[in-house]
Amino acid sequence: SRDTALTSATGPGVTADGRPVALLANIGGPRDLELAKEYGAEGVGLYRTEFLFLDRDVAPSEEEQEAAYREVVSAFPGGPVVVRVLDAGADKPLGFLPPTENEPNPALGARGIRIMRIFPDVMAGQLRALARAAEGSEADVRAMAPMVATPEEAAWFVAACRAAGLRSAGVMIEVPAAALRAADLAPAVDFFSIGTNDLAQYTFAADREVGALAAFQDPWQPVLLDLVAMTASAGVPCGVCGEACADPALACVLVGLGMSSLSMGAPALPWVRAALARHTFAQCRAAAVAARAQSTPEAARAAARTHLPGLS
Ligand code: PEP
Ligand code: MG
Repeated sequence: SRDTALTSATGPGVTADGRPVALLANIGGPRDLELAKEYGAEGVGLYRTEFLFLDRDVAPSEEEQEAAYREVVSAFPGGPVVVRVLDAGADKPLGFLPPTENEPNPALGARGIRIMRIFPDVMAGQLRALARAAEGSEADVRAMAPMVATPEEAAWFVAACRAAGLRSAGVMIEVPAAALRAADLAPAVDFFSIGTNDLAQYTFAADREVGALAAFQDPWQPVLLDLVAMTASAGVPCGVCGEACADPALACVLVGLGMSSLSMGAPALPWVRAALARHTFAQCRAAAVAARAQSTPEAARAAARTHLPGLS
């Protein structure tokens, strides 16, 4: 039950039988660090850097970016800090870039890594700023690309990261093509991070911003669990950074599917930490198997819960 003592529970994520699961925070900038600390995040699993770039006529300088990245890196000297390069597109236009062509379907347009390939200097500047922010520290700084769909895009991004001097580079898995062929992307990258929000949007061809289609965003959809399992089977360290992680029962299922980290809005961390502490990895696996055997989100949730007695 959600007793108030749990809100202050801290410490690293671990299942009842000792399997570590890194519990990380999603942040939009240094201003979110306080909350991440307060709820005991072990690091940052998703730093959405677009907030540094929005509503500006000129791009932030590399020095300004370096300062913003350094603040986050120094807040978590021990844990991972995963910085995502710009996830801009027609729905999040950047004032300092020339307008791209009019796109009737922005979610299917030049966004994420696709727009970075049109303006590679912007991404190179971000990566240089991040590499400098990491310099001289032992911090586990990682760069991550959004909206990657092909092995070629993954390899292009990782090569740019290496050229900037970054040690760790990975890609988000949020396009079904990438999940279905995760094994083809695997050789290029150091890690995967599954974005369940966009993965649901693209799997169901249902705009995540349209309220009438909200049911398609239910992260208990068995097909999403299948795509998570398929991604995990590629054998690369893999986590989830979409909203799915914030549901304690689903967090257990995701661990059962092989996720080694979960990144979420900080206030959900204590509930997820407590849910993991009450269940063994075998229980998490059984919950995942039971959920995937269902054909609706409701049935998947109910089936998983029968294997997770520590949740009331
Ligand atoms: C996602 O798509 O699940 C994700 C984590 O990224 P964003 O919500 O920023 O698109
Ligand atoms: Mg996304």
